[in-house]
Amino acid sequence: MERVERKDKTRDIARDKPRDPSRQPPTGAPAAGSEPPAGAGDRMRDLISLCKRRGFLFPSSELYGGLNACWDYGPLGVELKNNVKSAWWDALVRQRDDVVGLDAAILMARRVWQASGHEAVFTDPMVDCTACQGRFRADHVTEELGSLEVCPNCGARGTLTEPRQFNLMFKTYMGPVEEDAALIYLRPETAQGIYVNFQNVQQSMRLRPPFGIAQIGKAFRNEISPGNFTYRTREFEQMEMQYFVEPGENERWFDYWRERRWQWYVDLGLHPEHLAWHEHAEDERAHYARAAVDIYYQFPFGAHEMEGIHDRTDFDLKRHQEYSNKDQSYYDDATKRRYIPYVVETSAGADRATLAFLCDAYDEDVVEGDTRVVLRLSKRLAPVKVAILPLSKKPELAAVAREVREVVRPLGTTQYDETGGSIGKRYRRQDEIGTPYCVTVDFQSLEDRQVTIRERDSMRQRRVPIAELRATLAADLAS
Ligand code: ATP
Repeated sequence: MERVERKDKTRDIARDKPRDPSRQPPTGAPAAGSEPPAGAGDRMRDLISLCKRRGFLFPSSELYGGLNACWDYGPLGVELKNNVKSAWWDALVRQRDDVVGLDAAILMARRVWQASGHEAVFTDPMVDCTACQGRFRADHVTEELGSLEVCPNCGARGTLTEPRQFNLMFKTYMGPVEEDAALIYLRPETAQGIYVNFQNVQQSMRLRPPFGIAQIGKAFRNEISPGNFTYRTREFEQMEMQYFVEPGENERWFDYWRERRWQWYVDLGLHPEHLAWHEHAEDERAHYARAAVDIYYQFPFGAHEMEGIHDRTDFDLKRHQEYSNKDQSYYDDATKRRYIPYVVETSAGADRATLAFLCDAYDEDVVEGDTRVVLRLSKRLAPVKVAILPLSKKPELAAVAREVREVVRPLGTTQYDETGGSIGKRYRRQDEIGTPYCVTVDFQSLEDRQVTIRERDSMRQRRVPIAELRATLAADLAS
């Protein structure tokens, strides 16, 4: 069973004491890693099967037996995840005056990870079973079974090795020679790319605190026990924003950002009762962190972290100042004060958020005696906005239907489906992928130049002139 309790390793080390595995359960939700509700396994199985069948997600390298904990987003998955990322970018960057974007390289100087603490301490304790060769996170086993006496896989006693610290960063070598001097890492988080560009961005954009730098990008962690579909993978995408403020202003901005980030999920359709706060207890936090809170989502396999919001003080910029020997302070010419800004960070996973939106949207109801699977995704996130369905393959209908597709194409991703099957079956196929609107072209359309709009959730149908179709759908999609 998957448990989620690892925190930022650099924080643990900065505290200079072993990580405390006891994490408070989120308010109003089951404890992290708690037994999933009955039927949760079926729900996950149904969702995973839908994702594969309908082109959302495929196991990486499936042709060669798959690569553990890596996933490929198919044609609909990439649309959905792009919509999640673009909704984040819109809320964090485009709709604001005080946040700018960045796209830093994945490969960074090794010194960055020495300064951040990752090289020394981005570790998890690992144990091996000498009987079944299983490999586990020691803290997971202790929490699940109370001790390291019994192997959680084969049940053998006394076969688990002593815990060893395992660094989660993937190593590689820069250039042709595999020597220690050429060692670099795939970044385990995007945040450091922002910290090391603080001066570049501040100066080139002439920014004054408070301001933020946002970034979306891949991160890599050699997780010991990945799993739960795309929840914990070895290659994933983060959406992180570092907000630089004057010391003393951090508390206010922390409160501001935690509310903003919660609301973002709700605005995009997550049921608020499936969300919960997990406040980090004082002994859970690094000594320098003033506050830290996670947003948990009630996944079918338990309540787990989706995003963290942290008040990191001036720790990161100070460390980079120390290791690079370059001044990281900001001079405020209005107040004649020089200071190293404090940072409030919002750190989300694009894959975890996408999974949460999928879990929350998955629904089944009964229509005309048959079970209908429907993804009730918000219109902003739905991978296909409008599907055009000619009632038959007859060329005269196809001509008008193709014309209708061009009318709606500017509204976003559209699908044209004239494949066999009744119109009812084709509606079901669109419901299953979350398409909010279907447009049906029938023989009547040839005479009156009107088409039928059918809504996913209410299944209501209405006739609309083709001349008004785009404006009508644009208004509906924006509502
Ligand atoms: P966890 O305790 O689940 O390992 P974390 O506290 O180590 O997560 P952070 O380092 O705070 O995570 O990373 C910020 C966000 O990045 C997480 O909230 C999550 O959404 C995402 N993330 C982290 N690790 C993974 C992973 N292995 N797979 C998918 N997403 C991840």
